[in-house]
Order: sequence, then C-alpha cells, then structure tokens
Amino acid sequence: MNEKLMKVYQPTGLAREYAELACNLFNGCDSKCIYCFNPKLLHKSVDEFHSTVTPQKDVIKKIKHDVKILEGDQREILLCFTCDAYSSGAMEHTTTTEALEILLEHGLNVNVLTKGGERSLKDYKLFKRYKDQVRYGISLVFSDDNDSLKYESGAAVTSERIETLYRYKRAGIRTWISLEPIWSAEDACELIEDTWLFSDHYKIGKLNYHPHTKEVDWRESIQKIVEQCKRNAVDYTLKKDTAKLVI
Ligand code: SF4
Repeated sequence: MNEKLMKVYQPTGLAREYAELACNLFNGCDSKCIYCFNPKLLHKSVDEFHSTVTPQKDVIKKIKHDVKILEGDQREILLCFTCDAYSSGAMEHTTTTEALEILLEHGLNVNVLTKGGERSLKDYKLFKRYKDQVRYGISLVFSDDNDSLKYESGAAVTSERIETLYRYKRAGIRTWISLEPIWSAEDACELIEDTWLFSDHYKIGKLNYHPHTKEVDWRESIQKIVEQCKRNAVDYTLKKDTAKLVI
C-alpha cells in the first residue's frame, strides 16, 4: 500500500489507547466542555473552538479516497477525537451521515463516541443496518444533569446520553462508555450504577489538564471506581496513566 491516507489516521500517544484509527469530521465543537483539551491541542482560542462548527476541508472527498486504501481493514475507526460528530453545530451539516455511509458501505468498522444524545438517533437506521460494523459510545463525566448543563453546556445532558445508549443497546448495537475525564469518584461510581446493564465496556481515564485535578486524591478515587466496576462485574479498561495509580 503506497498511497497515503488523507483523512483517516493512526492516533498517537494517549489517544492510541482508544483507537487504532480515527477520523475527525469537523473543525470546532460547540458542546463547550470546560475540560476540553482540543483548543490547546489545535492552537485555537477556547471561544473560537467552541463557537463554530464547520466540516473539515474536503472531508467527504478525502474519506472516499481513503476507503479504497482501507479495503478489508478490520480496525475500528473512531469518530471523532477533536470534535463530536453529533454536536449541535454538526447537525447543520450532512457530513456525519455521509461519512458513515461511505465507511460502512465499504465494509469498514466504525466506533462513534458522542455527547450528542438524541441528536445521534439521526443515524439510527444506518447503525441498525450495519450493526455488526458499529460500536456506539457515549462520554460521561457528571452524574447530575445540572452539572452536565453547567460544565458541558452545549452537549446533551447526562440522562439523555444514557437513554440514547440504552436505545442503541436495545437495537442490538454494541455499546460502550468513556468515563473520561473522571471528575470525581462519586460521579463515576453513580454513572456505572446507572448504566452497567446496557454498556458492554467502560474506558476509564483520570482528568488531566484542568486545575480541578489538584483537588482530587486520584489513588483513592480510582480504587473506589475499580471496586465499583468489580461490584457490578463490568468489562472495563483503565487508561495507562490511570492504571499506574492503583498498581
Ligand atoms: S465534546 Fe469533546 S470536543 Fe466537544 S467540547 Fe466536549 S470535550 Fe471538546
């Protein structure tokens, strides 16, 4: 394979723990999470990153190019790391559905991670049709809807995300939850309690890059969360920097 991928890429560093391949569809994300690291990563101001959502340049054309190279590749492609395919702003575009159709019709495996809640039901029929190629994941940080409204003001509230995950699970789609960044052990434990019946997997990672991280006893918190996982007998993975705290 000499030709290079144009849009799908192999994540590096901590992101590699989530996915072997990924694809970012949009510039910007108006979910406005206060812990979002992407503005820093992308050298943008927080306001700029959170205010406009536009499809990345030639994204569909580039995905059409990439699927030919990736033919037969069974690695999952995560949508998205530096945006949310179902952010409010993303819904003004057809990009997410178009991208999914191309990837899935070419037999590729897709892993969607979102805080979009019901907005992600837009592609319900598509996910059902290709259910063997799709995993649906939600990010959860705060167990209380008021906190998610306050700290992730443009995202769907926590209860809506959980309800949507449940609907996808009932439709026979594999599900998972990203408990990252952990804000508190109490939040994480409650979220596991609320979801363990219909989440196939949990990926757990501590908060980084935010002043609140200094207020948390991470060793004790992660231990509590691991105990909760064991109590509910869930399948879970700790990210490497988080696992180090409890070894
Ligand atoms: S959903 Fe993700 S990309 Fe969007 S603001 Fe929140 S952390 Fe940032």
